[in-house]
Amino acid sequence: MNHDLYGRFLGMVRELNTARAVEALLDWDQETLMPPRGAEDRAAQISLLAGIIHERLTSPELGEALERLERDGVADSFEAAVVVRELRREYERATRLPRELVRELARVCTLAKGVWAEARRESDFARFAPHLRRIMALKRESADCIGWTTEPYDALLDEFEPGARAAEIATLFQSVQADLLALLERIRGARRRPDLSVLERPYDAGALDRVVRAIAAALGYDFSAGRLDVSAHPFCTSFSPRDVRITTRYTEKLVSNPIFSVIHEVGHALYEQGFEPQHAYTPLAAAVSLGIHESQSRLWENLVGRSRPFWEHFYPQLCAALPHLADVSLDDWHFAINDVRPSLIRVDADEVTYNLHILLRFDLERRLIRGELDVDDVPAAWNARMKELLGISPSTDAEGCLQDIHWSSGLVGYFPTYALGNLYAAQFFEAARRDLPDLERQFAAGRFLPLREWLREKIHRHGRSYRAAELVQRVTGRPLSKEPFVAHLTSKFEPLYGL
Ligand code: MG
Repeated sequence: MNHDLYGRFLGMVRELNTARAVEALLDWDQETLMPPRGAEDRAAQISLLAGIIHERLTSPELGEALERLERDGVADSFEAAVVVRELRREYERATRLPRELVRELARVCTLAKGVWAEARRESDFARFAPHLRRIMALKRESADCIGWTTEPYDALLDEFEPGARAAEIATLFQSVQADLLALLERIRGARRRPDLSVLERPYDAGALDRVVRAIAAALGYDFSAGRLDVSAHPFCTSFSPRDVRITTRYTEKLVSNPIFSVIHEVGHALYEQGFEPQHAYTPLAAAVSLGIHESQSRLWENLVGRSRPFWEHFYPQLCAALPHLADVSLDDWHFAINDVRPSLIRVDADEVTYNLHILLRFDLERRLIRGELDVDDVPAAWNARMKELLGISPSTDAEGCLQDIHWSSGLVGYFPTYALGNLYAAQFFEAARRDLPDLERQFAAGRFLPLREWLREKIHRHGRSYRAAELVQRVTGRPLSKEPFVAHLTSKFEPLYGL
């Protein structure tokens, strides 16, 4: 390998990703601290940076370096081979899209986001429809530019879940659907029901903030390389493994929402803090895919945070901070935070019904991109599928096909990564339990670092070295399967609901 050339190439990669970190920092500031009047300037700042990033990514220098490194071979270094492979992928995706198309999509989406917000407020799908039609046409055009073999949707999916194929995901989802519907049917017939009113009691946000910080620290979130702030929508962002920030909100009616949103974002953050610092600003310190990223948040949120051993440790602390819960038993609390019932809104969905919401969106957007579903027919298709999957149907489009921001932002092929995240999470957790047999006893004793270290060793520190399918195979010894997810749900909800 030509080490001088690779050194120069790596310098370009680091600069490119440093510019992205600056862009992420501007975004973080906008969501947390920026005064309202700063918005216009911020848009100009971000737009300038986005231009610089695109220029760097598509520069002839980078293209030539890639070509020479590929020709001369980088196989003598596994790490160099990963960086070259990943930059080739990014370079191809960026250079195949005509500048005009990228600009037009950005313009259309900026406009569409505003219209979508109004349309949702008024529950007026007709207002949003022409924008959605234009976005889907531009996304289809993008897919054709990027290239695909089986179906155009694959090219869009590949942005978020590299290497994934829609047809394979559809088969997997189809099979999960049957299990979820069967379990949901049994739960709906159960006589036991949790008392949700305990979650609805007013709470002291300051006291809750102290508890969630204690939880985040106990799970292994490093506050010397991170912060917890308040924003309108909870998120996690990272500038390097040494600066990974999370947010939450305390305006929620249910006391459980800020708790689980923090645990969720901590899961994302532990992944980012677990990358090797010396690889910062390279693909060796970047997430494999959105699905794998989501698996880390879901694992901590659902497999750990909604488990009984977790609350055996934390519930006394929570009650001490929020005395209004003192008359609620640990069992009642645990049942309430694991309530299962069909609901219209995806972000409020429980562990059993959540993936059904995703199946619906995946199916619809795939048909939209294929040209098999007309935009005007989206509300009817949405409502019919809701009825089929969850037995309920929205009375307004605001509670139906207008509820998510994704399509208005041009995010098509993104939704399936949420469901994949749930499946990966269960399969990783099953492997962790095999390797760390007393895991649940450790949770009950407040010890979460052994799990974090296991995840770091098996998943985090590898960055983007492996594609998702390969990572799952390496970590769990088999390809992605629905079985661990279904087994987790069954073993959890059967006893809870007395099935
Ligand atoms: Mg997430």
